[in-house]
Amino acid sequence: MAENNVDNKKNVVKTRNFIHELVEKDISEGKNNGRVHTRFPPEPNGYLHIGHAKAICLDFGTAEKFGGKCNLRFDDTNPTKEDVEYVDSIKEDIKWLGFDWEDRLYYASDFFDKLYEFAEQLIKEGKAYVDDQPAELISQQRGTPTKPGIESPLRNRSVDENLDLFRRMKAGEFPNEAKVLRAKVDMTSPNMHMRDPLMYRISHAEHHRTGNKWCIYPMYDYAHGQCDYFEGVTHSLCTLEFEIHRPLYNWFVDQMATDDYRPRQIEFSRLNLTYTMMSKRKLLHLVEQGYVNGWNDPRMPTISGMRRRGFTPASIRNLVEKVGITKTEGMIDFAMLEHAVRDDLNKTAQRVMGVLNPLKVVITNYPEDKAEMVQAINNPENESAGRRDVPFTRELYIEREDFMEYPPRKFFRLSLGKEVRLRYAYYITCNEVIKNEAGEITELHCTYDPETRGGKSADGRKVKGTLHWVSATEGVKAEIRLYDRLFNVENPANEKGNDFTELLNPESLKVLQNCFVEPFVKSAKPLDHFQFERMGYFNVDKDTTPENLVINRTVTLRDNWAKQMNK
Ligand code: ATP
Ligand code: MG
Repeated sequence: MAENNVDNKKNVVKTRNFIHELVEKDISEGKNNGRVHTRFPPEPNGYLHIGHAKAICLDFGTAEKFGGKCNLRFDDTNPTKEDVEYVDSIKEDIKWLGFDWEDRLYYASDFFDKLYEFAEQLIKEGKAYVDDQPAELISQQRGTPTKPGIESPLRNRSVDENLDLFRRMKAGEFPNEAKVLRAKVDMTSPNMHMRDPLMYRISHAEHHRTGNKWCIYPMYDYAHGQCDYFEGVTHSLCTLEFEIHRPLYNWFVDQMATDDYRPRQIEFSRLNLTYTMMSKRKLLHLVEQGYVNGWNDPRMPTISGMRRRGFTPASIRNLVEKVGITKTEGMIDFAMLEHAVRDDLNKTAQRVMGVLNPLKVVITNYPEDKAEMVQAINNPENESAGRRDVPFTRELYIEREDFMEYPPRKFFRLSLGKEVRLRYAYYITCNEVIKNEAGEITELHCTYDPETRGGKSADGRKVKGTLHWVSATEGVKAEIRLYDRLFNVENPANEKGNDFTELLNPESLKVLQNCFVEPFVKSAKPLDHFQFERMGYFNVDKDTTPENLVINRTVTLRDNWAKQMNK
């Protein structure tokens, strides 16, 4: 059972979408003997983000829906950008989201030998050749979408010469970029990807799995389709930018001259979120230049950042479900994600009281050495969550903004001479405001009515305001980190010209050092969720030490952003 007792398997792309329809049709036509086998193919060159979560839910969810299987395959064809740190984080994130590849963990590098053999086969069949021209020239010769390409002068090398050169490339005889292996397809094809695409490049780089065995590495377009085929993948789901690669993907697999089955590539639109971006390259830049505190900074759109911030797997899956699977590109409002998070946490989060911006209250008619326990409800949405004891003492903290010396009409919280309810405890009345020399309010002197224990008056007297509070003597001090949008503009990836880091929101992180929470929170572990009554959803951060309780605000109770924007 996953955290928060959410059944992980219940809400995974259950809403029918066009991909399910295509899969159903394949099954009904008896294709692949009715098998459904998908894969999620990340490149281990960064941490997973919320966009990947969409692909994960779709890949694993589709397999699950049709009683099939889903592989995890690391697309590790580019050793200079890849790292085991990324491999490990990707596995952790997929598991956390609630999915399981069981024993089907693959790496494109598992197939390097097979891919190499197949490349030799293509050379022998006259379908691939070694080109010695510089990359720039090759690229120029490819033409443009409206102008056909021109053939390389080396295109018609003999099979023997190509085989010899390719084997010497593999043996390490040539430096990086000296030669490439190209597929001989069609330089006049309207699809640029078919104009003799690269299959192999030389890269004298150590690979995180194959070490120094190889100094030539397959290109993504050459490796991907074959890996799907080798793994038995029937439905290869990917984002729209690969649509134009599909003819090449099919071309390579067709050259295998087998007739057992063919993987089918189907494309869908990417998930994009407002006020953030999905480019791994740019996210890496933010990490490396210290604009954020690592890939798992709670402001990052990464799965690990969202986990640390307190977003739940169910809320992310629910968002993906709600967005649906289509071919239409669009932006998802960040507020929609926050809504999904609130929706899930509302059902599950332990309620406590916490004061972010404390103002001391002294109950002058309450004994100095007394502490009593009042009972508080753990979760009004779930009676079985029970109750807990909260210590009430003579000195308390309330939220500074819950008191006003000169209140406007309809201010129902505390002011001089007014009575309010302290949640679960007593009615109090404010009698005196204490200030320092600078004229700032430092303390309120109040009296409580002992006849209102539990927050109910015996005589039926009503108060309009109910405030949260924490005992000043029994409560626990905490550091609370408040997060806001990472960028100030809705679609930072779309802004031209400027350095994208200039678009960062300088107020995306605010740290409050002097907060107080009820003692209950002290026993909490990193990632534990809470609702601080009236204040939002919070969780314990991994930076917590026995001396310093560190708490993240996951999300406010309501959407404050629109309000702030109009201020
Ligand atoms: P790169 O530029 O490094 O290739 P990428 O975001 O495509 O970045 P991959 O590791 O190749 O990263 O992605 C793995 C899978 O996740 C691919 O199938 C890709 O189509 C899918 N994916 C990536 N970004 C999104 C997104 N924003 N929405 C939905 N799916 C995505
Ligand atoms: Mg990619």
